[in-house]
This record gives sequence, C-alpha cells and structure tokens, in this order.
Amino acid sequence: MKTILVTGGAGFVGSHACKALARAGYRPVTFDNLERGHEWAVKWGPLERGDLREEIDLQKAFETWRPWAVMHFAAYSYVGESIVDPMKYYLNNVGGTAKLLSACASFGCTNFVFSSSCATYGIPARLPLKEEDAQSPVSPYGHTKLVVERMLKEAEASHRIRHVALRYFNAAGADPDGEIGEVHEPETHLIPLVLFTAMGHLPSIKIFGDDYPTPDGTCIRDYVHVSDLADAHLGALQWLEAGNPSSSFNLGNGHGASVTEVIRASENAAGLPIKAEICPRRSGDPPILVSNSDKANELLGWKPKFPRLDQQIGHAWKWLKRQSA
Ligand code: UDP
Repeated sequence: MKTILVTGGAGFVGSHACKALARAGYRPVTFDNLERGHEWAVKWGPLERGDLREEIDLQKAFETWRPWAVMHFAAYSYVGESIVDPMKYYLNNVGGTAKLLSACASFGCTNFVFSSSCATYGIPARLPLKEEDAQSPVSPYGHTKLVVERMLKEAEASHRIRHVALRYFNAAGADPDGEIGEVHEPETHLIPLVLFTAMGHLPSIKIFGDDYPTPDGTCIRDYVHVSDLADAHLGALQWLEAGNPSSSFNLGNGHGASVTEVIRASENAAGLPIKAEICPRRSGDPPILVSNSDKANELLGWKPKFPRLDQQIGHAWKWLKRQSA
C-alpha cells in the first residue's frame, strides 16, 4: 500500500481527499498543525501533528512514513487576510512549501500534487479560463500560489520532483455521506455564510458589490463540489503513477453562478427566505471566474459527479443541519 503524505489533511478539501485516497487503496497520512484544520476530520489514516515551517516536524514525518507522494493542501487561504497581512501568507504558503520540497528532495519523494488556485489568474482576459492563459494574480494569496507553481518547476529541474498543480475554482458542498464538511474559523466563504443566515446564526448575508459588469451586478464564480475535487486529486496522483509528465489542470464545472443565484439556490435548499444586504465590493475580487476544465476531463478522466449548484448547496445544507442537531 502506497503512503501519501497529505499536508492540510485536516482541512476542508484535504480531508475529502484523504477519504478518496483510502477508498482507492492508498494510506493517507495527514500532516497538519491543526491551526485551521480539525482533528475530527482526520478519519482515514493517521495524523502527524506538525508545522510546515518547522524542518524538524517535516523530517520526523518523512522518516516515520517514507511517503511515495505528497499531496500539499496546507496553506492560509483567505484573500482578504492576505491583503491585510501578506507576509504571513508568504512565510507559510511559500516558505513552508520550500521546506516541504526540500524534505521531498532529501527523502527522494518525487511525486507531488499541489492545491493551486484560480486566484493565480487574476482578472481574466478571456473566459472560460484555460491553463495556458496568463497568470497575473491580484492578491498576495494568489501570488503565493503562483510562486509555488514556479518553485515546483525548479524543484523538478534540480530534484526530479514530478508534480501536478490543480487550480481549483470555488470549492463547495460537503461529503455526500455526511461524514465531513466545511468548517472554517473564521468563516468567510459565501455558501456557508448564506446557509448560516438561513439557520438564523447571522442576521443577513452581505453581498459584496452589485455594480459588477455581470447580468445581475454580483460576482460570478464557478462552484465545484469538494468530493469532485478530491477525485481530481486521486486522478492527478494516478497520472503521476502512470509515469506522465508534470502538468497543471483547471478544476471547475465550466458554468458560473452569481452571488444572487447562490442566495436563491440556498433559499430553495433551506425552504426559507434569506435576508441579504448590499455592501461595498471586497478588494481582490475579480468580477467573473469560470473554468474551462477540458484538459482535466480528457487527460485525468475527471468527470464531476455533482456539477450543479443545487447539489453542492444541498450537501452543504445537510452537513450544517447535522452539525447543529
Ligand atoms: N461574497 C459575498 N458575501 C460574503 C462572502 C463572499 O458577496 O459574505 C462573494 C465574494 O465577493 C465572491 C463570492 O461571494 O464574489 C465568492 O466568495 P468566497 O469568499 O466564497 O470565495 P472566493 O471567490 O473568494 O474564493
């Protein structure tokens, strides 16, 4: 059985990837400092508590588990926070990944799947976005992800670390079996906040800008189910396992939903009206992000099982209801 070191395996996408890995016959070992991840989400393999920024923690994890590959999710991931405190993002997302890649080189672990982001593209010149489009991030968060993509190319040239960078659009939903789901502290993402409002935990949902150049004036995003993202990680691992070259893939469903459409779909899922208020734009938000994921469909055989917003919001709603029961 191959061991996969999953950094950030206690987080939202990482924990779903651990489930997919275990189901496919791999041993996922979670490496997580639990600063933003959750111990309860580590259900499909051991937890190695450690911090990417501490070489000694990485050395212990590699010595103990001798992983065949790394799946690297651990990162700070709030665009807004990255604007307020960019160095925090560079130190962890870039500095931590440099230490992780050094450990991979020292231990001869030459297969690497990286959680990149559509935030590496910035404001798109054309839509839907394709992998070869210009990457020009508009937030420190997006820059940290792009720097790591660059570091991976250099790590391949010098240490033969083959890699896949998965640029995902907006992760949404929850495990369809209800075993894990999204819990961010603090929560800043649209869908959970809309659903918190439906549950009465928030007085209203703030719509960040209704003057964008979109049909209803609110931002459009390509929401992609977290279990589909987990399947893509598995596909990327198997791509490397089959001896294929390093590559990058967009992961989205190819259709966007506006903030207003997310609120409407959430009202349908909850069966309740949801109060919204128009607020100023949030800095660092491109008006529209939609993925062309043909490359992942064709080369990784990636076929999303839950491409529709109502499916994604339905699973997220079921998860939240279960948490509060
Ligand atoms: N958004 C919003 N109100 C909120 C949170 C988010 O209007 O309370 C908008 C945000 O401006 C963006 C979209 O919802 O256009 C998705 O934001 P989210 O933070 O979920 O993901 P991001 O696109 O930043 O990765």
